[in-house]
Amino acid sequence: VIRGTGLFQALDGIGVHEVIIESPAHDRDLGDLSLDHVREVVGVYRDRARSIAAEPQYRYVQIFKNKGPEAGATLSHPHTQILATPIVPKRVREEVESGERSWRADGRCLYCRIIGEEETAAERVVRGSGPFMAFVPFAARFPFETHIYPKRHAPSFAGIDDRELDGLAEILRDVLGRLKTVLSDPPYNLVVHQAPHPDSTRVEWPEIESFYHWHIEILPVLTKIAGFEWGTGFHINPISPELAARFLREA
Ligand SMILES: [Zn+2]
Ligand SMILES: [Zn+2]
Repeated sequence: VIRGTGLFQALDGIGVHEVIIESPAHDRDLGDLSLDHVREVVGVYRDRARSIAAEPQYRYVQIFKNKGPEAGATLSHPHTQILATPIVPKRVREEVESGERSWRADGRCLYCRIIGEEETAAERVVRGSGPFMAFVPFAARFPFETHIYPKRHAPSFAGIDDRELDGLAEILRDVLGRLKTVLSDPPYNLVVHQAPHPDSTRVEWPEIESFYHWHIEILPVLTKIAGFEWGTGFHINPISPELAARFLREA
């Protein structure tokens, strides 16, 4: 599906773009909804991800949410978007490749290891009970960046079962509520990272089931990406992850 030869290549314009309207209420964000309602929304995420993943021309299914104009939202009504792309995106490729390197070195899933290390250290954990863990990563790029990992090793969000969806709704609502309380309703981006379509991993990463672990990243928009970040790919984060986690934990 890549067109062009030589130096310049372009993607064909195929893909999927869906908008999930989370509720009829214009002024209630995902975290403000009842638990049953959030469960219904994440159930729609799962069902749409499964259905799009059934089509092999879509190599990656990206579920994401932009809340607030500073986070890129062009609709103010609460919504989530799903885009499917005909190639594996660069950011996902980087995660898959670092997961593979780590797994080749010690035979363990990097993400499962992170869960274990964070549980032991405890200082960056926002919420650790239940089937999911929420924490501020050791090298958080943004203030109050919070990740949610399922404790059960699984490469793909589309494979999540009904019971896990209950747990996901619970922790997602909890974490969004904490961010809202601590940061006074901040703009944020939320992204789900999961394994690409099996047709694109079979050759390149045949053992991906062992080393990739789906997760959610929530990125409050409190700082701007500027010259240093664009130039280097490094991020300047003015608050330590331990302190951010403590504020969220105690909220
Ligand atoms: Zn894992
Ligand atoms: Zn990720």
